[in-house]
Amino acid sequence: MLKVGFVGWRGMVGSVLLDRMRSEGDLDSLAVQFFSTSNPGGRAPHGGASAVLQDAREIDALARCEAVLSCQGGGYTSEVFAALRASGWNGYWIDAASTLRLREDAALVLDPINADQIQKRLDDGCRNFIGANCTVSLLLMAIGGLLREGLVEWVSTMTYQAVSGAGARKLTELGSQVGALGAATTDLQGGSAIEVEQAFTRVQTGAAFPVSEIGAPLACNVLPWIDRAMDSGQTREEWKASVEASKILGADPPVVIDGICARVDALRCHSQALCIKLARAVPLAEVRDLLSSGNAWVRLVDNSQEATLRQLTPAAVAGKLDIHIGRLRHLSMGPEYLGAFTVGDQLLWGAAEPLRRMLGFLRDARN
Ligand code: NAP
Repeated sequence: MLKVGFVGWRGMVGSVLLDRMRSEGDLDSLAVQFFSTSNPGGRAPHGGASAVLQDAREIDALARCEAVLSCQGGGYTSEVFAALRASGWNGYWIDAASTLRLREDAALVLDPINADQIQKRLDDGCRNFIGANCTVSLLLMAIGGLLREGLVEWVSTMTYQAVSGAGARKLTELGSQVGALGAATTDLQGGSAIEVEQAFTRVQTGAAFPVSEIGAPLACNVLPWIDRAMDSGQTREEWKASVEASKILGADPPVVIDGICARVDALRCHSQALCIKLARAVPLAEVRDLLSSGNAWVRLVDNSQEATLRQLTPAAVAGKLDIHIGRLRHLSMGPEYLGAFTVGDQLLWGAAEPLRRMLGFLRDARN
């Protein structure tokens, strides 16, 4: 069995990945050893009472694995990857972090979109396989059918990104913010709407409101800034869209995708409002056929109030592998402009699932 070292299994991405590995039976077909940066020697999450966590900073222990899968974060990758390679280790490095994504010797993994490229890179001896940005992966999963036909001239995407995309600590802080807002209104039962609003706003803008992780109130708010500034005026999250999508698709010239990324207080699904400039006027029935044939996970949602509120929200899609896309219509700019709204669980297809499936590629190559 392929010997895999799993680092970061306790975080947001790692715990969803472990859950998926359990439910798909992967832990029976791989020899997985668990590592920790904070609790080496502690009990591992799988393998019985005698299975202990190894030290994620011990290069020799990592080097005994044929593949290392890290969901630990970019700081860890920067600290360990080069040292591990310098030790002569020639195993497979699979990573959720962005650190290595744009290196020539790394491939981005999203196999419903680029299985051919993954296989080619494997055949060519590539040893670094990296998950792409969650928002980019979800967008490509949603509109893969149109991209495949060469029908997309450019995409403007306005995002509504869940807090889980920012990691465990920020999600926990959002819980504290929600709790503080809830406590503010407990004495206001029967109060007027304006009293409720004022109580919320007083607490949300007060000095005691917990913001040390997120940097601003997120509960009942929208934060149109994710990651650091780029010279272009974009945030790095916005900059990644075209760069990473082009690498996943092998597109040269690059595919043009741009927009504004906002953090909202959704929990684990990213939503994106799309304006797609089509290469030609495509009838809606054909658009629907192409989108739904894109991959096995795309689910079309009718452009009706009932279907939209029931199926096209972060709450409706959370925990599902399905990628929902709806609000499909030609925009008033003309028949070549397609409007759409898409929602996907960013911890699943946006992060954990492509990595889990990459392990499947390695396991299959070995059998
Ligand atoms: P995370 O939730 O912050 O977890 C990372 C590590 O933090 C854990 O493995 C754990 O390490 C430690 N940790 C500290 N406090 C914790 C707590 N209260 N609960 C759980 N773990 C805690 O990070 P993440 O969101 O999974 O992201 C991991 C990497 O994936 C990052 O590079 C991120 O950019 C990338 N990524 C994330 C997403 C996403 O949706 N979140 C999507 C795509 C890519 P120890 O057990 O060793 O202490």
